[in-house]
Amino acid sequence: MSIISKDISKAADLLTAEELVAIPTETVYGLAGNIYSEKAIKCIFETKQRPFFNPLIVHIPSVEALENIVSYVPEKATQLADAFWPGPLTLVLKKNSRIPDLITAGKDTVAVRVPNHPTTLELLEALDFPLAAPSANPFGSISPTTAQHVDDYFKEKIQMVLDGGPCQRGIESTIIGFEGDEPVIYRLGSTSIEAIEAIVGPVDIKNKKEIAPDAPGMLDRHYAPSTLTILTTDISEAIELHQDKRIGVLAFQNAHKHDAITFQIVLSEANDLSEAASKLYDALHQLDKQDLDIIIAERCPDVGLGTSINDRLQRATVSS
Ligand code: AMP
Ligand code: MG
Repeated sequence: MSIISKDISKAADLLTAEELVAIPTETVYGLAGNIYSEKAIKCIFETKQRPFFNPLIVHIPSVEALENIVSYVPEKATQLADAFWPGPLTLVLKKNSRIPDLITAGKDTVAVRVPNHPTTLELLEALDFPLAAPSANPFGSISPTTAQHVDDYFKEKIQMVLDGGPCQRGIESTIIGFEGDEPVIYRLGSTSIEAIEAIVGPVDIKNKKEIAPDAPGMLDRHYAPSTLTILTTDISEAIELHQDKRIGVLAFQNAHKHDAITFQIVLSEANDLSEAASKLYDALHQLDKQDLDIIIAERCPDVGLGTSINDRLQRATVSS
């Protein structure tokens, strides 16, 4: 077991000593280390079993700290940072020479954001270095949205999980890069396309593995339970097809009734996509523990955060 604790100064001490600490953010829990410590960064990759060619997101305490990380900021990047930071939007920008290659997988760009969680903002303010923090789960598995999820995955492999309660947003950050000076969405996430376009106008979306083959969140299969999982718009039809099996249902708004359903979670009875996003990964963790033959997941409406939820469900349901 790792220590699950709210002690921010203990977390700061461990990170300063080049150890890893799992940290809460509004999206998912991150496995954090000092970006300038080769030992800590290598340990992040080893602990997650993450391939070295997958770059990490750098977490900073404020918009002002961006100047220590990047060498150039397009005007629309400034507009997005001002609109959404602290918050679940990651910007991929030209890095400055102090950012280690290990963080960026040798690229000349770096992914950076200000997370919106009081505990982690206080931690970042207390440190004199930024934190690299990919999601605190083994590569490819369901992301953690509680301190307990992290401990279940890593036990004594990490010394401390800084407990900040359940993650309020529940899906990873939206990632935006720049082509010329124009924003392009590289990964859908907790900031909706509509919210982004309200600030900078229409944006291209390249949330595709063919375009970003080295992006871990872009693999066909990612965020995946170990139980066979399928995604459908017609739950009743899928239940009929699989009624000889032990079925778990992940419904969006309405509970379904059928004798073959042994476990069911409804993401938002109130038909609220942000509530559904915040509960998504915990629901998948719970379903995966029920010894089911199959999880049948229902597609959400394809608007706002529904598009991001469907993206994650799609990747959770591709068989390996
Ligand atoms: P994770 O921290 O696991 O949510 O994943 C980090 C995401 O940021 C991945 O999809 C990375 O490919 C992406 N990323 C990080 N740095 C860069 C970069 N320099 N260029 C493009 N994508 C990046
Ligand atoms: Mg991840």
